[in-house]
Amino acid sequence: MSFSLHGIGVSGGYAIGRAQLYSHERLEAPHYVLRQEDLESEVARFAEAVETVRAELLSLQTHIPDGAPPELSVFIEVHALILSDSMLSEVPKRLIRSERCNAEWALAQQTEALIAQFESIDDDYLRERRHDVRQVADKVLKALMGHPGQTPLKTADEGDSILVAHDLSPGDMVLFKRHTFAGFITDLGGTTSHTAILARSLSLPSVMALHNARAMIREGDWLIVDGVAGVVIVDPDAAVLDEYKLRRNQWLLEQKKLRRLKSSPSITLDAVEVGLMANIDLPSDVTQALGENAAGIGLFRSEFLFLNRDDLPGEEEQFEAYRSVAGEMGGRPVVIRTLDVGADKSVRWMEDDSINPALGLRAIRLCLAEPQIFITQIRAIYRASHYGKVRILLPMLASLTELDQALALIGAARGSLKVAGLPYDESVPIGGMIEIPAAALAAEWFARKLDFLSLGTNDLIQYTLAIDRTDDAVAHLYDPLNPGVLGLIDHTLKVGRKLNKPVSVCGEMAGDARLTRLLLGMGLTQFSMHPAHVLSVKQQVMRSNTAHLAPLVRKLLKAGRPERILELLEKINA
Ligand code: PEP
Ligand code: MG
Repeated sequence: MSFSLHGIGVSGGYAIGRAQLYSHERLEAPHYVLRQEDLESEVARFAEAVETVRAELLSLQTHIPDGAPPELSVFIEVHALILSDSMLSEVPKRLIRSERCNAEWALAQQTEALIAQFESIDDDYLRERRHDVRQVADKVLKALMGHPGQTPLKTADEGDSILVAHDLSPGDMVLFKRHTFAGFITDLGGTTSHTAILARSLSLPSVMALHNARAMIREGDWLIVDGVAGVVIVDPDAAVLDEYKLRRNQWLLEQKKLRRLKSSPSITLDAVEVGLMANIDLPSDVTQALGENAAGIGLFRSEFLFLNRDDLPGEEEQFEAYRSVAGEMGGRPVVIRTLDVGADKSVRWMEDDSINPALGLRAIRLCLAEPQIFITQIRAIYRASHYGKVRILLPMLASLTELDQALALIGAARGSLKVAGLPYDESVPIGGMIEIPAAALAAEWFARKLDFLSLGTNDLIQYTLAIDRTDDAVAHLYDPLNPGVLGLIDHTLKVGRKLNKPVSVCGEMAGDARLTRLLLGMGLTQFSMHPAHVLSVKQQVMRSNTAHLAPLVRKLLKAGRPERILELLEKINA
């Protein structure tokens, strides 16, 4: 019987194939009481299981296949770190001794306690790490119960297999890389989970957060994975299957064609040059940016260097990170955004008890409240400017007072480098993010004082529409096409043209190929996006004539009703 399941489309595209269930069921931990004299050998058995898993992870780390996404190694390291943490590797030993229980039970009790702690964390990213804790604990449990490793994956008809899993760990992804599946689906995982991050970098159609797909789908069932709509169709009827075969073939053809655009210049039919840059979180992401031939790094979210740790990265550590990116980009521009923590990106060293963190002490506000953190970062960025083409970007500006204060601190940091005789580029351009409606409306004042502007549409939409971007309950109202949002973007672009100051878009809108022509028609010529989207946006650029688009886009900007806006967008994209 045909039925469909709905989740989150994490990586676009379509896959059709037979279900290959991934053996990942949770093992039930037995519980029994031990005699006093058996406790130490039970502790030793637990330690041995931990060592077995450590060896497995080490072996995975040294056998990462060529072409595996760079994140993979980091994820395996995260699992190794979790395993080494005394909360997982030592506390169960104490429990064995104090409770006189078996190792499996001690591990299960401690795992549940740890996961409960993770569940109470506000930060989405950190909360997601509870899945990593569960995955590592499951590995140890399997080692204890004599189930080392995973059920080997079938190799027949791999191209037609869809992996169906309750959850996938980074280690699973190594296997996944070796076996060319058409797509995968999982019960667990949010958009910031490790698996989602990997899925995007592998560009395989995938749907996550399906809740109970693993239980409802049988081995060998025909599946359609619609990564665009976030839908999985089980046992589709012939007509639906035919329809999706068509869509999939079209999509596959498109993907193939896109690779050919890698070295093509990003230029419109009427000869407008369009800069397509990459957004990165960590220095290692540069590999992917270069792989897609991005024109530069349009947004280096430097705060990722500050997350998942108890201390602050010092000037030397930051300098090395920025210098490596600047150097690897070999003369292409690298826009380093200064620390943007707070709201959904909380850090351990900062007590965040804001009533509403998205409106609280975040980004530049925090840096101005803690000038030493800001100055340390600015010194590191300037020192890196000696090794490449570096730019500074200030997040969350709302008022000119903040900008003046930030510029004064930047001047002080520069002065201190001069006194110390350290080399740096005197003319590093300084830009500001336009992501608060007040800043968009007052863009002219900011543009006069800055070298460039960058529209952070993710936050601009959040603040313009009063929709928390992390809240599932209002996610359906998050609308880049809202006339208010488009008006603010348009106004900022006009200001840039008037004052001859470059304006880019670095929010998710820049990587959405359905919006490329709209943005081009508004006059945007600088886009920055996840590297995986560079080629699909380039394709749109190469097909567009901005002179033809402009009048249609003006019409759309004057429309108010959502249906009319969508109708005009279709025309623009036709
Ligand atoms: C944005 O807000 O659009 C942006 C690019 O910054 P972030 O997503 O990191 O808040
Ligand atoms: Mg932002």
